[in-house]
Order: sequence, then structure tokens, then C-alpha cells
Amino acid sequence: MVDISAKGARRVVVLGTGGTISGRARSADDNLGYTAGEVGVADLLAGIDAPAGVELEAEQVAQVDSKDMSFAIWQALARRCAHWLARDDVAGIVITHGTDTLEETAFFLHSVLAPAKPVVLTCAMRPASALAPDGPQNVRDAVAVAATPGARGVVVVCAGTVHGAADVQKVHTYRLDAFASGDAGPIGYVEEGALRRLRPWSDADDAAPTLFDKAMAAVDCPRVEILLSHAEARGSLVDALREERRRGAADAVRGIVLAATGNGTLHHTLEAAALRAQADGIAVLRATRCVEGRILPRPGERLRDAGALTPVKARIALMLELLA
Ligand code: ASP
Repeated sequence: MVDISAKGARRVVVLGTGGTISGRARSADDNLGYTAGEVGVADLLAGIDAPAGVELEAEQVAQVDSKDMSFAIWQALARRCAHWLARDDVAGIVITHGTDTLEETAFFLHSVLAPAKPVVLTCAMRPASALAPDGPQNVRDAVAVAATPGARGVVVVCAGTVHGAADVQKVHTYRLDAFASGDAGPIGYVEEGALRRLRPWSDADDAAPTLFDKAMAAVDCPRVEILLSHAEARGSLVDALREERRRGAADAVRGIVLAATGNGTLHHTLEAAALRAQADGIAVLRATRCVEGRILPRPGERLRDAGALTPVKARIALMLELLA
């Protein structure tokens, strides 16, 4: 093997976690009846040409359907990212991941790493066994971004588009171009292996090292539930969580994110229950269930809002806040 660091070449480390990108179906024309997380990450790199001067290295961190993502896997992933990012010969990291909770993992890593090098999550909507899988091109594009000089932060690359971790959301159940960045728009596009950047990379965050230490030291993550406000919403689920806590349940809820309507509004019955929960010491946060936009503060609000964070990202932010 060539000593790439001695020649000034760089390494991109590809961490595998499972998902449809590593899924296998019985037949090539079946894009739905597959099992996620079957093909190893080293095999996903077969036939992928790295950019000149870049060497690829594969490591399997997990092998799951991302609908079942866990805090323990996030911890393992963050630790492996920190390990590789600290090495001078590593230009960046690519993470292969399922699409279902991709935005959650991206936001968690963004919050605890805020890396000065690129950490690029990528995925596929079709399994590796498909007639025309989208995974190989996505991996190729992700590697190109990870090897781009000056690239930094946690981003997602899917269908030739680069999304920032704070903005990205899965917005389609089936299309290959399944992600969007809402109002913020994408960071850029990958065109024939070259990045066309439209806006700045995300800034480093001074809070990240502290959050990293706290998150890595945690045995379990604080339980934070998401409840939806809707027509006919009730407060009974909130009251059930309060009751569980009052009885001293081991894994009692510590935080509740309310997926609120519009500009953070709540059904009055749910709001009343949420205020009771807050008075009991449960952390409550409102996040809008709208796909785009942010909650603009209104005078007199008694429950905090999560700004532009979606409910699933607000849940992670609150969880990290409770850890800190
Ligand atoms: N259920 C799969 C996963 O998230 C879906 C996908 O990867 O597209 O792992």
C-alpha cells in the first residue's frame, strides 16, 4: 500500500450504518420488498473511483434500518467521527445511512461535532440489488464533497444536492430526490464530481465540544417525547406522562416537544396540559409541524419555541440541553 500521507494525498473514511443503500431484495426489479442493512460498507465502495490523490477507507459502525436508530449508535458514530477527524491525513468522512432518520443523525452529529472538516451523510432510495440503484452515484458525490478543499460541517448529499444538517428534511416517500432544505435552500450541487456551492458552509459552534463530552458520557439519553397538536387534540397523553413521572417510573419523561400548528399554536386543551407538565418540571418546547418556515415569537407565550427546528430536530436539541 502507498503511504498517501507522505505524498500529501488524503484519505476519505466511509462509515457504514445500514439503510436501503445497503439493502438487498430477492429480485432486481423490487425496490420495496428488501431488507435494509445487508450489504457491508466495503462492498458499497466497489467500483467507486475516488478523486485523484484521495484514498478511501471503509469502516462498519452499525448495520441497521435507520427507522430503528438509537442513541447508542449515535454515540458510536460520533466517537468514530471524532477519531478520524483528528487525523491529519483524513480530509473528511462519508457516512452511509438510511433515509428515514438521516436528518436526525445529521443534526445530532452537527450539534456535538460542528466539525472543521466535512462529515457527509449519504443514502439511497433504492436497494443495492435494484436494477438501477441510486446508492453508487450518491456515494460518489458524497466522496467528492468530503474531498473538496475547504468543505466543512455536517451535510447530506442525495441526488446531486448538498443539504446543511440544520435544514435538511426527508420530504418524499419514494422519489430518488427525497430531501429538501426548505427556506434555506441547498448548500450546493454536485455536478460531474465537482461541487457548485451556492451558500456558505455552516459555522463552527463553540457549544459542540461540551455537548460531545456530555453525550459521550451519558449511559442513556433523557427521554423526550413528541406530541402532535391537531384538531380535537387532547391533553390526556401529556397527563399520562406526568402521572408516570409522579409515580417515579425509571425512564420517566424529561422533555416534551409539541409539534405545533402554524406559527407554534396549540389546541387549547393540549396547551393547558403542557403548562401543567412545565409546572411539574418537564421541559416543554414548541416546534412547528409546517414543512417550511420558523416560529416567530409572539408576546406573552408561556411555552418556549424551537425557532426553525422541526419537531424531530427540536427533540434532539432538547435532549442535548437536558444532558448538559
Ligand atoms: N427504512 C430505510 C432506512 O431508513 C429507508 C431508506 O434507507 O431509504 O434505513
